[in-house]
Amino acid sequence: MTLDKELITRAMHRVETRVGPVDLVAGGVFVWASACDGFVSVKLNVAEDEDGTGAADEAVRAMRQELAGDVERAIRATAEGEGAVLRSLIVQFVSKAGVVVEAVKFDGEVGEAKGAASSGASGGGSAGGTGHSPVPPKSADGHRPIRGLDAPGPHAAAPSGLAGVGHIIAVGAGKGGVGKSTVAVNLAVGLARRGHAVGLLDGDIYGPSLPTMLGLGSLDQVVHGGRLQPFAVHGIKAVTIGKMVDPEKPLIWRGPMAHGAFKQLTEQTSWGELDYLIVDLPPGTGDVALTMAQTLKCTGAVIVCTPQRVAQDDAVRAARMFQQLGIDVLGVVENMSYFVGDDGKEYDIFGRGGAEHMAQRLGVPYLGGIPITMSLRENSDAGDPTENFEGAARGGTRARSDELLARSLEEMVDALLGQVSLAALRRGAATPTLKIS
Ligand code: ADP
Repeated sequence: MTLDKELITRAMHRVETRVGPVDLVAGGVFVWASACDGFVSVKLNVAEDEDGTGAADEAVRAMRQELAGDVERAIRATAEGEGAVLRSLIVQFVSKAGVVVEAVKFDGEVGEAKGAASSGASGGGSAGGTGHSPVPPKSADGHRPIRGLDAPGPHAAAPSGLAGVGHIIAVGAGKGGVGKSTVAVNLAVGLARRGHAVGLLDGDIYGPSLPTMLGLGSLDQVVHGGRLQPFAVHGIKAVTIGKMVDPEKPLIWRGPMAHGAFKQLTEQTSWGELDYLIVDLPPGTGDVALTMAQTLKCTGAVIVCTPQRVAQDDAVRAARMFQQLGIDVLGVVENMSYFVGDDGKEYDIFGRGGAEHMAQRLGVPYLGGIPITMSLRENSDAGDPTENFEGAARGGTRARSDELLARSLEEMVDALLGQVSLAALRRGAATPTLKIS
């Protein structure tokens, strides 16, 4: 049987806890569940007497951890009883206002239950891989596979990262419009200009902006042998769902559909060998961030934030969520840090330094600030990010503002590379070397 919402709800009716069996559905604790391919997320209400601000003390945290463990055992046991496999689970605790205040992640598959692979992978098998198949049928999870792509096999569902890809770096933000995609694009291009092999995945499936920012307008998406062929532009390889859907239509994805679409974009793309895969996530901490945490091994996440106080609160929440999902926060970038006019004068319009203070508060690195410049906006709209790095060399009236822009981008890339090295050291993947000159 498929590990779906109905099975999860059934499991939630009888969860064995330290004080005996508890019905989380009747008790109003269980709120919502989403499942696709054995990857499950569940939302639980925080206890009545909690304030829901997230400022829980250690005892409350320990209780949530314990309850999450009980929930995991209940779902796993019910799934196994039905011949299904729980591959990964994220339990989120939400406040009365619906804000996620804590998340607990469980990884790992126990045993190989018969029939598990058919739960989500089955639907895509009929897509064939010819690139000309009719609209594929929906899988039991409600995810309609992207046309012409092979379904991710059960092997691809293991949370072991992507073959051939060195570092996966997510770019996230607490809210939309702060320049997350701008940072993702310029990080990717900046890394490529240093000689690294870089891929860029537009994971912002609800509002993909890479077709515009990379100038993909006239190019067609190629599917070869059932796999997406990334666009080779500006020295990077890029994939976006924006080239596979009608740009005029809103993209509405429910949890399992978003999960399936993101998985297909990551796993069914011929990335080849990459040093870095930059993933531009949707704003906030929704389904795609959960899927990424469950299916990929990320080196870490970069949080983009503008200097204002209101932007910081959301960014803090996003950063905490990444940490709870086991994804290191590599640092915070302050976008729109200050404005530089064509006259080269700097105007501190949003309160430069706000994001740096936030990073200090969070105890995470600060990767630098990017100014607001006319050129950055124009180059993004024109789909020419390379110009952000080279505009200054042209001189002219914008020479000063273009120089500040290019410098800020180069410094952001430097800072990120430093943090990636440190993250590798933390994981024991690199040995420090002492250079004596
Ligand atoms: P998000 O991904 O957070 O929704 P975008 O990266 O799409 O935000 O940026 C929103 C808009 O603001 C885009 O038109 C982009 O070109 C512009 N923009 C972002 N950062 C800057 C900046 N530092 N200077 C000028 N324009 C910017």
